[in-house]
Amino acid sequence: MKTIGIIGGMSYESSIHYYERINDQVNAEAGNLTCAKMIIYNVNFEEIRKLMLNNEWNEIGVELANIAIKLENAGADCIVIATNTMHKLADYVQSKINIPLIHIADCVAEKCKKTGIFNVGLLGTKYTMVEDFFKDRLKYNGLIVNTPENSQEIDEIDRIIFDELCKGKIKDVSKKYYINVINEMIEHKGIDGIILGCTEIEMLIKSKDVQIPIFDTTQSHIDSIVDICLEKISL
Ligand code: GLU
Repeated sequence: MKTIGIIGGMSYESSIHYYERINDQVNAEAGNLTCAKMIIYNVNFEEIRKLMLNNEWNEIGVELANIAIKLENAGADCIVIATNTMHKLADYVQSKINIPLIHIADCVAEKCKKTGIFNVGLLGTKYTMVEDFFKDRLKYNGLIVNTPENSQEIDEIDRIIFDELCKGKIKDVSKKYYINVINEMIEHKGIDGIILGCTEIEMLIKSKDVQIPIFDTTQSHIDSIVDICLEKISL
């Protein structure tokens, strides 16, 4: 079995799902008392969020890279960053370690392709929707990526993530807002699937809420991690 090094806490609401489901899925396959070998470094997201808002991404990069080095030195065979947004720094973190970083966008793109869906919508934080780091990785994997274009919508989707979902608040009005944005993208962009490109959105939007398939980055990441853990995928 491989040991997974997880950088978590962004937010802890979603990191809980990584811990629980990786263990559950590994146990479901391997049985008995088997659970996953993992080392979790939980950051204080309040500190990170302040740096994000001050645009101090270099500092965040250094912090995440230092954590990844600690996890490597502690025996991790690979590194997982349990948030989409922080994949803005994935290449930098990867350049500082000698073990592979399991990129969340590759995991979700694989699921889309397996289902035969290539024209997708992407919802996530403002960084994930507006900047290129995530969209480019999906495109590199062969997908056509659509994001909301209206800046008010982008701001509201982002606000709901940080003000509500990252604090464990699930509101009906926010759920309706997201569904409406997805329906707009179905109507105007002809998307065939929607990527939930933020590790908390799956708490708000479920498959039954929309008419097209949902591709959840949290679960996609977890499925790949379980396969790595059980050595069904080699590193
Ligand atoms: N968990 C979120 C994501 O997947 C947002 C938190 C963060 O900024 O890292 O993007």
